Parts: sequence; structure tokens; C-alpha cells
Amino acid sequence: MAKFENNGLPTGIGIFGGTFDPVHFGHLRIALEVCQQLNLDHVRLVPCHVPPHRSQPTTDGKARRLLLELAVKSCPSLIVDDIELNRAGPSYSIDTVRALREDYPQQSLYLIVGSDNFRQLDTWRDWQSLLQYAHIVVVRRAGEALDLSTTMAAWLQTHLAKSADINLTEGKVWTLDVTPLAISATTIRAQRAAGGSVQFLLPETVLTAMDQLGLYPTDR
Ligand code: ATP
Repeated sequence: MAKFENNGLPTGIGIFGGTFDPVHFGHLRIALEVCQQLNLDHVRLVPCHVPPHRSQPTTDGKARRLLLELAVKSCPSLIVDDIELNRAGPSYSIDTVRALREDYPQQSLYLIVGSDNFRQLDTWRDWQSLLQYAHIVVVRRAGEALDLSTTMAAWLQTHLAKSADINLTEGKVWTLDVTPLAISATTIRAQRAAGGSVQFLLPETVLTAMDQLGLYPTDR
């Protein structure tokens, strides 16, 4: 707990959920850059168990978690959190932020979402309650405009953070620019399946483990 000091401000913790099927440099740069820009203590990478809004991951949670652990090994500010893998049923973000708020009652919590996911936030379970427990940080994917529905644009305007809101522990929406990296797990899976190389799209340690464990094999 001694690390939780931030010049008198409530220290912040990032929560970055995803399928991570597999983890790649797009995820890792986002997590690190949000951590640095908001001066967070750390970011928790949360692999989901059952994604409620998309197809099931192609690889089981244990393997996705192992690859994440290897990916963040050399970066102390990124931590893998099992919370959703250990929870039965669909991995709703509201359950995750509520549980982490109980674990960290004093800290600022920041739920990090890509702009593609933020666009559909109003389809998430209990989405308006997310701000009772955490801030939301929207990061733009490479080359993408936010391009929100009228509902989401109005909601964003109402809750958009101002710089003084850094004092708050939850309740605001931050939009951050991060280094655009047009990498997706879908492309990585497709290239592996086609027998292509995915070197330099994800950490070498992750690639080595994928090869050794026969994960994401070629279908040729
Ligand atoms: P898939 O291609 O299988 O849909 P993905 O690469 O989008 O996977 P996820 O694990 O589904 O990865 O994404 C987790 C979060 O990271 C989401 O909020 C997503 O918007 C964001 N994200 C993933 N890749 C990038 C990227 N290259 N740039 C910005 N955000 C990203």
C-alpha cells in the first residue's frame, strides 16, 4: 500500500478489460500510456471469461492469461488481474468495477475502453452506473473518429472531465490520445492461421510461448 501516494491526490488505478486473444502491442501501449498520462499507480489488465457482447475467445482463459503475464513481466506498472476469469457467467464490466471499488475504496479508478467499445457502451449492462464506481477513459483506435450516436455524444458531453476532476475518484469520462497502433487480435489470429508471421506485432516472449504451446496454430 505504501506505493499509493500521488502528491496528495487520490492515487489512480487503471482497469483495462479485453479478450486479449492474444495480447498485442496495441493493448500494451494503451495501458502504459494511460498509466503515464494520468499518473496512475498501475493498470490492471483484466482478461474476460465470457464476453457478453461478442463471440467467445478462440483460446481458453488460462492460456490467454499466461500470455498476458509474459507480456507484462518487464513492466511493473502493468498487472494481470484474474477477477473475471474467476467469476462464473458473462464478464460484465459493472461487476468488475463494483468489486474493485470494494477492494480500493480510496483510490481513483479508471476503466479504460477503446473507442470502438465506447461507441456501444449504451448496450452494456447497467452502463450508466459504471461512473458510480470509476471514471471511464476512452482511447482512440488508430485512424478512428469517435463517431458517436446522439445518445452517447450527449452522455459524453454531460460527463466529460475537466482538468480539476483529477481530484475525483470516479464519475467522469476522459478522452485520451495514445500512439495509434493499428494492430488487432483478429489480424494476428488470421495471420497465424494462414501460416504467416506475427513477429513485431506482439512481444517476442508471447510469440515464443504461442509456438511452444501450439496456441493459435496454422490451419493449413
Ligand atoms: P479482436 O480483434 O479479437 O476484436 P482486439 O485486438 O480488439 O481483439 P480486445 O482484447 O478485444 O482486442 O480489446 C480490448 C480493448 O482494447 C478494447 O477496448 C479495444 O477497443 C482496445 N484495443 C484493442 N486493440 C487496440 C488498438 N490497436 N488500439 C486501440 N485500442 C485497442
